[in-house]
Amino acid sequence: MILINEADRSNYTNVWVVSEVLSGNIQPVTHELLGAARALADKRGCGVWAVAMGSGITDQARSLFAYGADKVIVVDDARLSGFVDELEARVLVRLIKKYKPEIVLCAGTTRGKALAPRVAVRANCGLTADCTGLDIDADNGDLLQTRPAFGGNIMATIRSSNHRPQMATVRPRVMKAPEPDPGRTGEIISESLEENDSVKLKRIIEIVHSGDSTVNLGDAEIIISGGRGVKGPEGFELLRRFAAKVGGAVGASRAAVDAGWIPYSHQIGQTGQTVQTKVYIACGISGQIQHLVGMQSCDFIVAIDKNPDTPMMQLADIAEVGDLFEIIPEIINEISRV
Ligand SMILES: Cc1cc2nc3c(=O)[nH]c(=O)nc-3n(C[C@H](O)[C@H](O)[C@H](O)COP(=O)(O)OP(=O)(O)OC[C@H]3O[C@@H](n4cnc5c(N)ncnc54)[C@H](O)[C@@H]3O)c2cc1C
Repeated sequence: MILINEADRSNYTNVWVVSEVLSGNIQPVTHELLGAARALADKRGCGVWAVAMGSGITDQARSLFAYGADKVIVVDDARLSGFVDELEARVLVRLIKKYKPEIVLCAGTTRGKALAPRVAVRANCGLTADCTGLDIDADNGDLLQTRPAFGGNIMATIRSSNHRPQMATVRPRVMKAPEPDPGRTGEIISESLEENDSVKLKRIIEIVHSGDSTVNLGDAEIIISGGRGVKGPEGFELLRRFAAKVGGAVGASRAAVDAGWIPYSHQIGQTGQTVQTKVYIACGISGQIQHLVGMQSCDFIVAIDKNPDTPMMQLADIAEVGDLFEIIPEIINEISRV
């Protein structure tokens, strides 16, 4: 393993965000990462750069200034359309060697998880996957990368002091996207592919979208989520009625999913989905850390539980102590009366 020396370390500067591009569109997780990058860069006194790789991406790339980017490196080439992580990794490593960023952030998505490890290996730097929190040691630029560890039993803060750049992935909806400032501008740096750049190892034949489209946790503004306290599939029928009344989606804890009361596609948490809704209503969910990491960024949290002392009840903006089988029908009746 090659360790970086003090002199080399100081050659690395700026926080980079690798834009998440799907079907030719820059995804909202890029804005969330830019918000986090801006906070880190302001503490460190450096700039925020975004990297946008894709086909016909230049115009969209300009929108990234509004979310906090100072410069955007654009690599716009038809060979970069679709899911071409091999080629993107090659390009990104080249850019890293040329411009020497101190930190590189990628989305913890399927695409980001395919891209970031390829880059980390070739750039000889560490990679901390699925971070739920990021901070920086302003003196030496060490990225403080927090994520669940040891099966989610502890939250570990990891430093990659001996390597530059430092790379991390962050899941969608863990960080809040900043309000865009349309008046913000910056510099576009255009970079090109090399003549012999191509994808050699694989060919994408078709992209098939799977999953239950009625779950839609990612887009929901309200989630009614149930745990072991819901006691069975019938309990989830009650939550579905509640969700239908408020136009929400239904989520679940792993305990409820493991019990077979509701499919995995509804699971929220470390091994499920991460959500960032306006309202999250936890019904009979105690709020173990593995669940909280998937929903703690929601704007307003309501908890209904018999036990007032659970972590979820402590976290909630409104904590309703009692039996959910009495409280939820009352709420549904109240809403029906309005
Ligand atoms: C590696 C790993 C990954 C994990 N990933 C996830 C994950 O992604 N998501 C996840 O959720 N968990 C995950 N877990 C499991 C997690 O540790 C907890 O076991 C799980 O979240 C507990 O689910 P729960 O809150 O529904 O159940 P419990 O902890 O049993 O809580 C049930 C709650 O219901 C309340 N209750 C009971 N009856 C009623 C009633 N009638 N009315 C009102 N309240 C009632 C109880 O007071 C209690 O607070 C993971 C664990 C590990 C080790």
